[in-house]
Amino acid sequence: MAHTVYPQSYYAASANPVPPRPELNGEVETDVCIIGAGYTGLSTALFLLESGFKVSVLEAAKVGFGASGRNGGQIVNSYSRDIDVIERTVEPKQAQLLGQMAFEGGRIIRERIAKYNIQCDLKDGGVFAAVTDKQMGHLEAQKKLWERYGHTQLELMDAKRIREVVATDSYIGGMLDMSGGHIHPLNLALGEAAAVESLGGVIYEQSPAIRIERGANPVVHTPQGRIKAKFVVVAGNAYLGNLIPELAAKSMPCGTQVITTEPLSDELAKSLLPQDYCIEDCNYLLDYYRLSGDKRLIFGGGVVYGARDPADIEAIIRPNLLKTFPQLKDVKIDYAWTGNFLLTLSRLPQVGRLGDNIYYSQGCSGHGVTYTHLAGKVLAEALRGQAERFDAFAGLPHYPFPGGQLFRVPFTAMGAWYYSLRDKLGF
Ligand SMILES: Cc1cc2nc3c(=O)[nH]c(=O)nc-3n(C[C@H](O)[C@H](O)[C@H](O)COP(=O)(O)OP(=O)(O)OC[C@H]3O[C@@H](n4cnc5c(N)ncnc54)[C@H](O)[C@@H]3O)c2cc1C
Repeated sequence: MAHTVYPQSYYAASANPVPPRPELNGEVETDVCIIGAGYTGLSTALFLLESGFKVSVLEAAKVGFGASGRNGGQIVNSYSRDIDVIERTVEPKQAQLLGQMAFEGGRIIRERIAKYNIQCDLKDGGVFAAVTDKQMGHLEAQKKLWERYGHTQLELMDAKRIREVVATDSYIGGMLDMSGGHIHPLNLALGEAAAVESLGGVIYEQSPAIRIERGANPVVHTPQGRIKAKFVVVAGNAYLGNLIPELAAKSMPCGTQVITTEPLSDELAKSLLPQDYCIEDCNYLLDYYRLSGDKRLIFGGGVVYGARDPADIEAIIRPNLLKTFPQLKDVKIDYAWTGNFLLTLSRLPQVGRLGDNIYYSQGCSGHGVTYTHLAGKVLAEALRGQAERFDAFAGLPHYPFPGGQLFRVPFTAMGAWYYSLRDKLGF
C-alpha cells in the first residue's frame, strides 16, 4: 500500500525528529482502540493511559497528519459558538458545566507541555481583533459573559492599545487573553504521541480503520489486521470519511488555508508583533496569524466548503496578509498548504456514543486546538464511568445541513457569503 506523507507545510519541514512507527499486522487485543492520531485521539490516549487503561491508536496516515499538524497553532479558548448560544440552547445546569470547561483545554495543553517536556515553541497571549464597532461591542459582551464563568484574565483594548501589539491600522480595538497563545502544532502532536508511547500506548501509522464490527466486544478492521477492544473512540474528524454514516450526515469537512513567509529579520518581526501574541480577527471568515519560533509570519484564512483543495493558495491568502501588513509586500512566501476541519450546523462539537462502547468527538468547527485537548479528558472520564461532563457535550443538539449531501455545500457557502457581507458592511 502506498504510504501517505505530510503535506508540504512549514510544520512538516520543521518537525522534531521521530522514530518510524509500525503498521498494524495481525490481531491485537486492548482495552481501548482509538481511531485517529490527532489531538482528540492523542489527548484521549494520554488521559486513559494515565488512568491505567491499555490503549492502541490507529492512524490512517501519520501522527498529526490531519488538522492537528496543519493548523494556525493558535490556542483559542472557548468553543466555535460561544456560551451565550449554549445558554440559549440547553438547560442551565448543562450550560453551567460547559461554561466552566471553556478555558480548560488551554490549561491541559500547558500541563502536557510541562509534564512531558514537549518542544513546541509555546508562547502566551492571544488577541481577538475587532474590525467594526459591532464586533467591539460583541467582545465587550463576551468579556462579561466569560467573567461570569470565572474567566477573568481578559483585557479590552482600544485602538491605541491594540496598535501597540500589532502593527496594522486594520483594527478599532480588541481583547487580549493571556491564557491564549500559540504553539508549533505538529510538534505538539508529535510530543504527545511520544508521551503516549512512553506510557506503553501503541500507535500504528498507515493503518486506516476500514470497518467497525459493533457488538459487546467491538472489532476494528484495517487492511492488514484487526483490533479487538472493550471500547472504541472515534477521533478521525474531517478525515474520517464515511466510516460511520450516521456521523457524516450532520457534519461537513471544510478546507482552510495557511501561508508562511520566509524568516523575517528580528527587527521586522518585532515591529509587526512586538509581544509575540497571536491574532485572530472577529470576522465570520476570519484571518489568523502569528510569528513562528524562527520569526516567519504564519497567516491563515479562507474557507472552502466541502474541502476541495484550491489550486493556488498563495493567490487566495496573500492579499489578506498584505491588507493587514502592506509593509510585507516584498517578502517571499516559502510555504502554502490547506487542511480540513469539520463543520457542524450549530458550530458546536458533535459528541456522543454509538451503543454503549463506541464513543466519538468531532466537529469543533475550525476552533479546536483547546477543545480537542479537553475532549480527551472528558472522553477518558466517561470511559472510567464518570460521564457527567461528557454528557454535557453529548446533550448538545445537532441537525443535518440544509440541502442534504447534494446541496449542503452551495447552501452553506451562500450562508457564509451573507455573514461575510454583514462583516464588510459593519452590521
Ligand atoms: C488549516 C487549519 C487551521 C486551523 N487553525 C486553528 C487554530 O489556529 N486554532 C484552533 O483552535 N483550531 C484551528 N483549527 C482547527 C483544529 O486544528 C482542529 O479542530 C483540531 O486539530 C482537530 O483535531 P482532531 O484530532 O479532532 O482531528 P485531526 O487533527 O484532523 O485528526 C484526525 C486524524 O484521524 C485520522 N483518521 C481519519 N480517519 C481515520 C481512519 N478511518 N482510520 C485511522 N485514522 C483515521 C486522520 O488521518 C487524522 O490524522 C485549524 C484547522 C485547520 C485545518
